[in-house]
Amino acid sequence: MEKKPELKPEEAAMELVACFPAKVARKRSKQIVINEVGPEEQVPEVMANVRTIPGIITMRGCSYAGCKGVVLGPTRDILQITHGPIGCGFYSWATRRNQTRPATGEDTNFMPYALSTDMQEEQIIFGGEKKLKKAIEEAIALFNPKAIGIFSTCPVGLIGDDVHSVAREMEAKYPGINIFGFSCEGYKGVSQSAGHHVANNKVFTDVVGLIDEPKEGKYKVNLLGEYNIGGDAFEIERIFEKAGLTLHSSFSGNSVYEEFASAHTADLNVVMCHRSINYLAEMMEKKYGIPWFKVNFIGAEASAKSLRKIAEYYGDKELMDKVEEVIAEEMKEVARVRDDVASRCAGKTAMMFVGGSRAHHYQDIFKEIGMKTIAAGYEFAHRDDYEGRKVIPSIKVDADSRNIEELKVTADPEKYRDRLTEADRKRLGDEFKFKNYEGMMPDMDPKTLVIDDLNHHEMEVLIEKFHPDIFCAGVKEKYVVQKYGIPMKQLHSYDYGGPYAGFQGAINFYRDIDKMINTKVWSLVKAPWDDSPELTATYACDQAV
Ligand code: SF4
Repeated sequence: MEKKPELKPEEAAMELVACFPAKVARKRSKQIVINEVGPEEQVPEVMANVRTIPGIITMRGCSYAGCKGVVLGPTRDILQITHGPIGCGFYSWATRRNQTRPATGEDTNFMPYALSTDMQEEQIIFGGEKKLKKAIEEAIALFNPKAIGIFSTCPVGLIGDDVHSVAREMEAKYPGINIFGFSCEGYKGVSQSAGHHVANNKVFTDVVGLIDEPKEGKYKVNLLGEYNIGGDAFEIERIFEKAGLTLHSSFSGNSVYEEFASAHTADLNVVMCHRSINYLAEMMEKKYGIPWFKVNFIGAEASAKSLRKIAEYYGDKELMDKVEEVIAEEMKEVARVRDDVASRCAGKTAMMFVGGSRAHHYQDIFKEIGMKTIAAGYEFAHRDDYEGRKVIPSIKVDADSRNIEELKVTADPEKYRDRLTEADRKRLGDEFKFKNYEGMMPDMDPKTLVIDDLNHHEMEVLIEKFHPDIFCAGVKEKYVVQKYGIPMKQLHSYDYGGPYAGFQGAINFYRDIDKMINTKVWSLVKAPWDDSPELTATYACDQAV
């Protein structure tokens, strides 16, 4: 495919919606903005977290996918039972390459399993609670778990099965096992974002705070919103250990039940994926007094910055020196590979449409090898993920958001502990922002395109007009992009690569992108629809009678 002349973003924005009916085009236009960063990081308003228009092929997943697949999926010893038809369970089974590492071969690891009640027509008509109880008993007999999560799918909500009362009943029967249900029916929200919120609420009310035993070690940190895709959490754990930090728990990559249950004993929460887990960070701060701030371990510079911020929070000279030593040591190899790769990748362009933080995080790592992101967006973000948390008070709560329970959280009379003294607050100053996230847009260049909930038609327009050197999204987009002769990197599952977090991860990413962009194979690809479109038709009115 030939490179098209550079198109002005204003023209591209119009072209993206040109084929839609006027009403649809009007709505989509509010979700497509041309970035402009003003004073105090003021950016244009983008419409987000609204329903996808029926008939448009979205990149999104459902609420069940966000709850079971994203947030709870990566834990290894909470037995997870999908209550619903087998398709939902299969869909969320081991497709995201979350890795886990039990200490020994005998330790519990349920991640290779996908348990489902496999609802049939009979249960849809007469109710599936009996089958769910039987499934729980069968699972207990087979696996003897310490905790069970039950995940509701669309049919369960439609017929009115009460997974919570089943959970209570079974818990009374098996008092040693923590059994809890998630009302995460696929239709519960406009995207997987609703499922993240449901998962946060239930883990907070039913698991966090149950075990008061703190972990051994100094500087105890919970890492929130890190799901250990391709081994990312392993690399972050390696760096933490090297710097002398204690990773108390990771929500939820490579995690175990006890770490969730005792997470309230840690000193600090750091948040990687803002959208999927900011609720838990907020609630833990209110109930237990744990401060939180946003970090990013994608990219070597971002990793160094995040490590420095954590050390600064503790304000311990010994820790700060150790962190500098680790950064200096790790950066030697990073710089060597980065400079070599940058010599071939600088000036190339990327587009990325993924997640609720990843499309932001990966812009940093592309910048390190001299690449420019010309269009980006999220599948399930809210306005604050784009524009920064300062816009939260101005976000209108609609019926879809009201669907998800907002928990009223107050300080725990016994377990609340203010981690920061007045002296700490003074030392850290106003510049050290807690519970803040500036969002993706302030970090993007002016005149770049920001598009929420991109669809396949718009993706094809972007590719034809801009011909990016690499496109990053998920598996639903992968093969269409490749047929255009454009390399495509999955940022949900990393294809077969990773880890990409931390310093070693940055090196892996530089090398993988170099190989993808600089191979000649893409110029040999000819899209099948160039010669023979599969679907051809004529209007009846145009046919001769
Ligand atoms: S949308 Fe409903 S039926 Fe489809 S996978 Fe999600 S929960 Fe299952």
